[in-house]
Parts: sequence; C-alpha cells; structure tokens
Amino acid sequence: MEGTQHSDFVQILSWIAVFLLSTSYWFQIWKIHIHKEVRDLSMIYHVFLALGFGILAYTAWVEDSLIFLVKQIATTIPVCVIIAQIIIHKEDRWHDDDDPYCTKCNSELELIWNHCPFCGTEKSEEQQQSQYQAILKNNNK
Ligand SMILES: [Zn+2]
Repeated sequence: MEGTQHSDFVQILSWIAVFLLSTSYWFQIWKIHIHKEVRDLSMIYHVFLALGFGILAYTAWVEDSLIFLVKQIATTIPVCVIIAQIIIHKEDRWHDDDDPYCTKCNSELELIWNHCPFCGTEKSEEQQQSQYQAILKNNNK
C-alpha cells in the first residue's frame, strides 16, 4: 500500500513537470507574438531542440513510455512553432501597443528613444509626455 501511494505521488509529480515544461514554451511564443522581435533568438538552438525532442519522442514510443512520449510531443510542437515565428518575424522589429510612431516617417519608436533612428526626427512634445507616463506606468507594475 505504502509503495503504491509513493509511486502514485511520483507519477503525479512527473505529470506536473511535463505540464510545466510544455507550457513554458507557450509563454515564449506569446512574447514573440506580442513584440514580433526574434533577432535575439537562436535558430540553430531551436532546430537542435526540435530534433532532439523529436528523436526522443520516437525512442519513447519504441520503449512504450507514455509519459515520456507525451512530454516529447508536448515540447516538440511549441519549439516548432517558435522556429516558424523566427522565420515569419525575422524582418520585423520590436512592437508594443504603447509605442508611439514617428511624426515624420511613421516608424514605430521605442519608449526610451527620444529621436527616430530612421530619420532623426525628435519625438513631439506630446509623445514625450505620453512616453513619460508609460514609463511610470511600467515601473509601477
Ligand atoms: Zn522617423
């Protein structure tokens, strides 16, 4: 009886870990989806992860290990999504809904910038005011 309870506990712990590991990647996916910025992400890192997870999914299936198979599939899928995002967004720049646009060339400006890096125009008085408000708001989060 004791032994069964112990292994049930270990089993539940393992499933919690599988859930956490596979969910963690979706936070990265969401972050990329919001900001469209992938320049800092390594393509080769994610390709190797996807290949490694994919191979282990196969060996888990051969060895008949359900939990390991689920874990490998649940991590391979989001890593493949990240690879697709890196390809889709490789030309994109950082995006945030709070960010102002340059009054001259209409490029998206980051909050901490005072000048547009594309045409050199200074932010308008109004933009600098809302930038100050947004930075305060972010600091209070
Ligand atoms: Zn500009």
